[in-house]
Amino acid sequence: MGSTLIRNAVIMTMNETNDILVGDVLVIGNQIAQIGANIQVTDVDRVIEAGGKVLLPGFIQTHIHLCQTLFRGRADDLELIDWLRTRIWPLEAAHNEDSVYYSAMLGIGELIRSGTTTILDMETVNHTESAFQAILESGIRAVSGKVMMDHGTEVPLALQEKTEQSLKESVELLEKWHGAAGGRIEYAFCPRFVVSCTEELLIGVRDLSAQYGVKVHTHASENREEISIVESERGLRNVVYLDHIGLAKPNLILAHSIWLDEEEKRIIKERGVKVTHCPGSNLKLASGVAEVPELLKEGIDVGIGADGAPCNNNLDMFQEMRLTAFIQKVKHGPTVMNAKTVLQMATMGGARVLGLEDKIGSIEVGKLADLQLLDLEDFHVYPSFDADWYSRVVYAATRGDVDTVMIDGQVVMESRIMKTIDKPLVLREADRTLKELLARL
Ligand SMILES: [Zn+2]
Repeated sequence: MGSTLIRNAVIMTMNETNDILVGDVLVIGNQIAQIGANIQVTDVDRVIEAGGKVLLPGFIQTHIHLCQTLFRGRADDLELIDWLRTRIWPLEAAHNEDSVYYSAMLGIGELIRSGTTTILDMETVNHTESAFQAILESGIRAVSGKVMMDHGTEVPLALQEKTEQSLKESVELLEKWHGAAGGRIEYAFCPRFVVSCTEELLIGVRDLSAQYGVKVHTHASENREEISIVESERGLRNVVYLDHIGLAKPNLILAHSIWLDEEEKRIIKERGVKVTHCPGSNLKLASGVAEVPELLKEGIDVGIGADGAPCNNNLDMFQEMRLTAFIQKVKHGPTVMNAKTVLQMATMGGARVLGLEDKIGSIEVGKLADLQLLDLEDFHVYPSFDADWYSRVVYAATRGDVDTVMIDGQVVMESRIMKTIDKPLVLREADRTLKELLARL
């Protein structure tokens, strides 16, 4: 890994005082060792001449399904419950080790290419080991886990789990992967959503997540049909039910959280539950618009995630940031959320959702070196004179502007060349494994 000196960048620190400065960043091992003007070091392994490029913390996406990347474009224009039952579940059920691995590699390639350095990921029921292998090899920082589903109708046989087995397999994966790669990989329990989980399973997750000190990642209140299923089966609204069984704690991360009533918002706030906003997915599935400005005002930690490729259809934080701001403007007026607030959500907001705010999310001495360098020498991001940097990055820049990406001190993309992922191989194998998967349907 060694040491890297990044010279002469516009450094958007995203620290508490939102400092932006022109200068150098010295990375030693996997940590940011020094930030300042004209750092003098004699013995450095690599110098990156950033001259005018923008250095940002890597983006943190707090809701991703790597195992679904192979299904991009195979479940368009459907209602959520149909989307799951008629397309996503059968496709997930047909996965094998090979297809999960290349689905993950395809997703990670896209994520790194567009400046994302950390993800909270939810895999499928089987072959999660292959996704962890891809995470390990690619160098991305990830909190991930196998999805858990032991309840519900119209679930393909290959995805139907017995409660005990689901918990046992989760713990086996946790014991192998939590803290792997020097802490770059973490495990999270991932009950899919209340609709596909028994109370016994959810209570098991509650106890085991407390015992092992790990996160719980689930979907909640994404869709009105989902909420009515939960209400009719459990007699309570979604988040009220999660609280009722003792799952609503600071380690619980809820994807979507669109249809919350006042009591549910109070529970989320008082229990320190975290929320992930997925604007692209919410628009495409017509799920609704989450009350993000209100949640932020209440002091609730909200991150951003692209969700899976079949409901977006990209894993691109630049698009998600733009949508995060724009959909609120339609609802609440143009002043409701500015570019800086959105960029904070994409960096430190995500770090807080994952409980990693002391390690990632900003460019500060002692933090882990998860960085992206943007090259903004192009028509669509000019002029640069007297620029509002937040506006330039959030409203004008695109993923094509990401030039170089470092994760945990390792350069994983340099001058737009992938360093840890063999792109031609991954594209070729994605097609091969998808073709074989479709033949298994
Ligand atoms: Zn999802």
